[in-house]
Formats: sequence, C-alpha cells, structure tokens
Amino acid sequence: METVHLKINNIPVEVPKGYTILQAAKEAGIEIPTLCYLKDINCIGACRVCMVEAKNRRGLLAACVYPAEEGLEVFTNTPAVIKSRKTTLELLLSTHNKKCLSCVRNQNCELQKLAAEYGVDEDRFQTEEPIYEIDDLSPYIVRDNNKCINCMRCVAACKNVQSISVIGAIKRGFAAHVGSAFDKSLDNAPCVGCGQCVVSCPVGALTEKSQEDKVWEAIADPTKKVLFFTAPSIKATLGEAFGMPIGTNVEGKMAAAIKRLGENVKAFNMDFTADLTIIEEANELVERIKTGGTLPMFTSCCPGWVKFVEHYYPEFIPNLSTCKSPQAMFGAVLKGYYCEKNGIDPKDVFVVSVIPCTAKKFEATRPQLRSNPEFDDVDVALTTRELARMIKRAGLDFASLPDEDFDAPFNKATGGGIIFGATGGVLEAALRTAARILDGKFEKVDFEEVRGPEVVREATYEVAGVTVKVAVTSGLGNARKLLEKIKKGEADYNMVEIMACPGGCINGGGQPTRSDSVSNYVDFKALRSKALYDQDKNSELRVCDDSPIIKMIYDEYFEAPGKEKAHHYLHTSYVARSKNYT
Ligand code: SF4
Ligand code: SF4
Ligand code: SF4
Repeated sequence: METVHLKINNIPVEVPKGYTILQAAKEAGIEIPTLCYLKDINCIGACRVCMVEAKNRRGLLAACVYPAEEGLEVFTNTPAVIKSRKTTLELLLSTHNKKCLSCVRNQNCELQKLAAEYGVDEDRFQTEEPIYEIDDLSPYIVRDNNKCINCMRCVAACKNVQSISVIGAIKRGFAAHVGSAFDKSLDNAPCVGCGQCVVSCPVGALTEKSQEDKVWEAIADPTKKVLFFTAPSIKATLGEAFGMPIGTNVEGKMAAAIKRLGENVKAFNMDFTADLTIIEEANELVERIKTGGTLPMFTSCCPGWVKFVEHYYPEFIPNLSTCKSPQAMFGAVLKGYYCEKNGIDPKDVFVVSVIPCTAKKFEATRPQLRSNPEFDDVDVALTTRELARMIKRAGLDFASLPDEDFDAPFNKATGGGIIFGATGGVLEAALRTAARILDGKFEKVDFEEVRGPEVVREATYEVAGVTVKVAVTSGLGNARKLLEKIKKGEADYNMVEIMACPGGCINGGGQPTRSDSVSNYVDFKALRSKALYDQDKNSELRVCDDSPIIKMIYDEYFEAPGKEKAHHYLHTSYVARSKNYT
C-alpha cells in the first residue's frame, strides 16, 4: 500500500495515499470539526467548518476533501482557522431558528455543540429569517427548514445510500432550500419512510412525527389498557439515549421503565412475533419451493423495503412473502387472541409498538394490515428516541432501574427472534426453521455465512436433497443493484433478505441520533449488532419453533402455520404505487 507522510500540528503521521487531511488528522489523534461531512455518505466540502491552514499553501483548506499530501504541514487550530470557523458558525446561525430550548435535538445538536465550543455571537449577522412552512403532512417525518443549515446530508443519504432521491436542493440563491420536487410535501413524494435522512441530520430540521402525547393521553385514560411491545433492535440502542456505551443490551431496564409509565401499562417482547413471523415465513418458503411458487421469496418484515418494491419494482410484488411484519403480527395478536382470551373489547386496548424507524409509523397506518376493518391493529408506533423521551419525562433514572422481565404471556423469545434487528438475522432465523422442516434432524443453528458487513452475502445449503440458495443485503441502493441482477437473470435465489437501512434495524431512522464523532469514526453498527448476536448465542432456545409461547398460540388459536385463522391475522397483501407520488 502506497503511503504519504505529513505533519498535523507538528505530529508526524503516515497514512495511505488517498486519505484526506480530515482522516490523517484523526490518525494523529486530532478531530477536526465537521457539519456537512458524513463518512461514506456526504463529502462535498460545503459547510467550511473543517477549514485548516497548511504551510506553503495559500488560504485555508477544507480538510474533508483536501488530500493528505507528502510533506504537507497542517495546522488545525491557528487564529485564522478559529476566526474562519467562528464566522462560518455565526453566518449559519443568522438564518437558523434558534428555539433551542424546546428543540428535540437540544444538547444533542452538532451546530449547538460547535456554537458553544467556539463561543459564537449568535446574533452577529442577524437578518430577517426566512419563514418556511413546516412540512408535517406525512405520518412519519416532520421537516422544519427554519432549522436547516443546508448541509445536504439528508439529500446524500436519500440519493447515495438509498437510491431514492425524493429530496434535493430547490430554488436558487437566498431562496435555496431542501425539499421534494415542486416544493410539495414529503407526503406527496414516493418516499419509502426509512428515516435515513433524519438520522443524518446534524440539527433539529428533520424529526420523526412525534406521537408521545397520544400515548400519554391513553395512559391517563382509566378505561384503556395500554399494551407496549418493543422491537428486537431497541434493547441494543436505547441505552445510548441515556449515555450508556454503544452496544449495551438494556432489555431488562427497558421492560422495567415501560412498566413504570402507568398502572394500566404492560410491556411485551416483540421478539416473540419475530419468532412467529419466522414460523409463517419458513413454512411459506418451503411451500413455494415444493410447489413451484414464485421465487426468490423476499422477506417482508421491513416496511421501508416493502414500500420500495411497491413504488419502484411492483413487478416483484409476488416475490414478497405475504407474512406481516413482527410489528403488524403483534398488533393482530393483541387485538385478536389477547382480547378474546381476556374478554376485553379491542376498542379498550391501546397498542403501542416501539420500533427502530419512521417507516413503521407509516406501516401502522396501512389499511391492508387491519385484521378488523374498524380499527388499526397498532394505534401508535414510537421510535426509540420517542420512548427515551417518555422515560425521561416520567422522571425515571434509567441507568439505576433494576432488570425486570417483560409481562407474560409474551415475555420470552428465541435467539432467532432476537437477531431480527441486524442485517442477515431474519434470513438466518428462517434458515434455522426451514432446515428443520425439510430435515427433522438438521442440527446447524449458526449460519454465519449470512452475517457480517459485506454488501451482499450469498450462501447455498443442501438440506434433505433440496438446494437452498440465499442472499442478504441492506440499504436500498444495494437492494436496487441486487434486483437488477435478478431481473437480468444474472442471479437466482430461493430466498432474499433485504432491510432498507444499512446494517438493518440497529441502524434504523428512529434510533438514537449519533454525534459526528461516532458517525464518522466508530463502527456503531457492528457494536449494536454484537449485542444481539451475543444474546442469541447465550439463549437457551435458538430456533423459533422451540418457543413455548409459539406452541401455546398455535395450540390455542392459530392451529397451524398457513391455516385460515393464521392467514387472516398474520398475512397481508401489497399495492403497486406510482414512482411519482405516494
Ligand atoms: S425517509 Fe428515506 S426515502 Fe424518504 S426522504 Fe428520507 S431518506 Fe429519502
Ligand atoms: S434537513 Fe438537516 S440534513 Fe438536510 S440539509 Fe438541512 S440540516 Fe442538513
Ligand atoms: S431496516 Fe428496520 S429500521 Fe430500517 S426501515 Fe426497515 S424495518 Fe425500519
């Protein structure tokens, strides 16, 4: 590997050729501030916060794009650099709505952090602020351009990572701002709701559509039973919102916190319906293989991916498994089985899912998911960030809570359900069960070939004389490439797992926001995934069909996978949507 030698603040450093000054400085132990830069996503040198000085170079250099050159001597903290950064921040603040006290990003905002570090005068260039209408028409994302600093990170996430491009810079000069085509609401655009734009935003210009108040209202209503359940990935991320190290598994504290939100609240474990999804999905796969059904079968648990197929590849709708997602299955189980068994009118329960993304807020409103035409099965879908805010507002000291179990009867799950939250987890769980269906004595449980960071993982297994060829990818840009290969006949699989967010739900658009220091320099996806795989490894039961709760619910209610009742409550249908609007 060719390397270059340079000095950063007089510290000698050797880095691979092709590194930028920003990367070289990090190797020297110095972090240069950034606002528009987002590793592997947005590198446009636009915000000018990362400016540095270098010996024998005129003017200042943008460290995020300027290459580390042989012999270069860089200074990251000179008076000229400080003055430039301070002025840039003051200019950004001149048109920024500075209602920091009530902003959801207060104390967690990259602009606020730098403004404090550089001691800026926030009113130095005060001008008449442009007033943008807040776009809150979609059921999942709110855009407040009055807080936008035009860093283009959301635009890059939507275009470069997800290959969707439903947002971009519109208008020119002082009127330039970010929005959808013709300045229409996101609700009118073929957006898939993944929320990758939201977690890319350094400030409070993009947020989930908050539904916390609706949940507080239900908790305050003595006629309601408020039934929470938490998605598999939440236990691996919620702790970050309380300052815990990335990858801390907080399942016990999370259950304890939710139960303390109100007397009428129960906390259930959605890993149980991840197990249930696998039972239905693995049976569907085996059925399709044996009867010559449509293959490859695509997983259907990610609503961002499902909406992507509906908008951009409707010809692949028959390939989507008809299984509902674990969120939707749990809503149906609670308003069906649970209410019947406990003699409760479904109208008296308020179902709250805690989920990793904004796409699941949209999913909860899909009419195709209603098992009763009169009401939604899930009343409110809260992101991890919203649950964290509710726990804070309840005055709970999260870190000091004791570990508690979820409430019965939906308190246990297998390792197969737990790994749903990481890319490859759904497919691995399905393989564990499908292999058992095909060969009752099949003992392999760890399908490591489908784990890991590679963009596309492929594997072929021989089970009881049947060849099962599978593939996994995440991120919709990668999904698009895989679909094009399948369309051209260059790839043939039996089953494909696709999750809209790179790395899967542990990196969902509703997960705790990260500082740039984490996003740009820490492999947070690997740390969060490890928390799930470690729990799977240590689980007593690792194959979904071994779950006693699964056995109970089929014995008492659904009879067998794919049977009429199971089909009514646990399966769904899809709609072809336009590429041009929602
Ligand atoms: S939610 Fe996803 S698809 Fe929609 S604008 Fe954001 S990044 Fe693009
Ligand atoms: S909405 Fe956020 S991410 Fe998008 S351009 Fe504005 S500040 Fe940047
Ligand atoms: S990968 Fe997970 S977090 Fe991302 S859109 Fe899909 S379900 Fe939501």
